Formats: sequence, C-alpha cells, structure tokens
Amino acid sequence: MKTFRFLSFVAATALLAVLLLGPATARAEVRLELWDGERAMALIAEQLQFTPRSMGAPGHQQTIDFIKAALAKTSVDVVTTQDWTYKSDDGKPLALSNIVARFQPQNPRRVIVATHYDSIVKAYRDPKNPEAPMPGANNSASGVAVLLETARVLSLLPKLPIGIDMIFFDGEEGPKSLGAGDPDWKALGSPHFVDRLKDTYPTTKPEKAVVFDMVCARNIQLKPEPSSLMSAMPEVKKFWGAGIGIAPGAFVTKTTTYPISDDHTALAEAGIPSFLVIDFDYEPWFNTTGDTLDKCDPQSLEAVGRTLTRYLTLP
Ligand SMILES: [Zn+2]
Repeated sequence: MKTFRFLSFVAATALLAVLLLGPATARAEVRLELWDGERAMALIAEQLQFTPRSMGAPGHQQTIDFIKAALAKTSVDVVTTQDWTYKSDDGKPLALSNIVARFQPQNPRRVIVATHYDSIVKAYRDPKNPEAPMPGANNSASGVAVLLETARVLSLLPKLPIGIDMIFFDGEEGPKSLGAGDPDWKALGSPHFVDRLKDTYPTTKPEKAVVFDMVCARNIQLKPEPSSLMSAMPEVKKFWGAGIGIAPGAFVTKTTTYPISDDHTALAEAGIPSFLVIDFDYEPWFNTTGDTLDKCDPQSLEAVGRTLTRYLTLP
C-alpha cells in the first residue's frame, strides 16, 4: 500500500465524526471464541515457508495452492480464480490470479471481505540486507490468515443473512513487487477485479467491502483510515464499535492522519462502500527481514478476526 502524507480536511472532519462512535448495539448469539488466534498464527507460519511469495516466484503459486486447500476444508460454496497476464514495463509477462471464494452464492445480498496474498520480493527497507527475500508475516500473510480462519469459523456458525465473497487479491504490491518501495506503485489485482465487476456481480453491486492488511502485530492499534471514512463511514463506525466491545485496547477512534491506498481504493472508486483495516504503525519492521512470525500475536489476530465475525452478523 502507499500513503499520502497530508492531513486533509476530510481526515479532520472524519476524526470528529468517529469520536462520536457508540458501542455496537446488536448482540447476535455468535460463538466468537471459536475464532482461534493460535490457528491464525499457524496459517501465517505455513505461508512463510513459501517466501518469497511475490509474483513470478515459486512461492506465489504455492500460496495460491495453500489458500485453495485451506478453503476446501470450509463450507465455502464456490472457489474460482480470475487469471490474467500483466505485462510489466520491462516487457516481462507476469501471471496473476485473484482468488474468489463465495458463501451462499445464490443470496442477492453480498459483502466483500478481502486481503492481498502477494508479498514484496525483497526486504528493501532492511538496513543490513535490502536484497534479502521478504518474509512478510504481517505484510501480507496476516490478512490471508484472518480470512482463512474466518472461513473456518463461518462454517461452524448458523447461516448468515448475507452472502460473503472472500477475495484474495494478487499484485497489491505493484508491478515490481516492491509496494511503497516503487515510486510507480499501483495495485494490480483489485483494479483488474473492478474492471470486470459484472463477471462476479452481473446485476447488483455488493453492499460493502472490508479489506485487511497488516493485522497481526503485538499491541495492535487499529485506527480508522481517512479514505475509508469517505467511502464507508457508517460501516467503519459499525466495525470499530464492534471492535471496541470485543478488544477495547486494539481499536482506537483517532484516525490515521493520512489516507492509505490499498485494495479498498479500487473497490471504493467502483462505487462500493469500502474500508481498510490496517495497523500501519509497524516500525522498525515494515518491509524488512524483521517482519517475521515472532512480531505477530494471537491476541491481535483474535481481536481482528472476532470483530470481523461479529461485524458480519450485524444488520
Ligand atoms: Zn499489504
């Protein structure tokens, strides 16, 4: 993802609005304790075996296979991939795949729950080893772990009133797989999906979308992100309200001071109310060799995963 460091009028007004948050009102009987942070940690550890998981690397395909195998053990109804070739500036063709897992595909009401599974190719911000393969426990294995553990838990819960589309986007780290380390960075997978939105949604757009990135760090502090508030303020309020009820220390109502571009950006531009859940305060490990499993905490993962599970049951 990429940040734009300016404190906008939007961010300031959004901050005021979010300060008015109340606790979640609906309390559906959901066994949130089923959502297991240790299982999510194991899902991160498994992905780290495939490092680097950047486009074109063997670990990229291994990650796709891993996600599909994990989904096959859940009650997800349909898993498809959207496959295409992206031609990079140096003419090298890159094979990309978005993975789409649909629960209750016949339900006309849809919500997107998304993350990206590609990681950057090398730990370019590492002070000692900037050419080393990127482990990427937090960026990007944590988002995949949250979706897969949520898929397992949803399989154990009563049917929800809304159909869920889990999307594992490819190419979020851009054509060079360097994320914010590439001045020409742009996400590839989510814009591709949006350009073909009618393939997945022939008649009606999904009602909303939530995107997860960097959600495993110890002492996680999740702040609403300004562009998300622009796109989906009521949903951000609902999510943070649920989160404060479940894990008060993990959810902060003060907004990040700058907007962050991620896979929610293309979805929002397509007219789908969309928001990002990210803990972007990850120094000194962000995009270094230090982004390893020991920086992740099962409690942080549970805070995020249980909040997502509760959120999905809210009206
Ligand atoms: Zn990321």
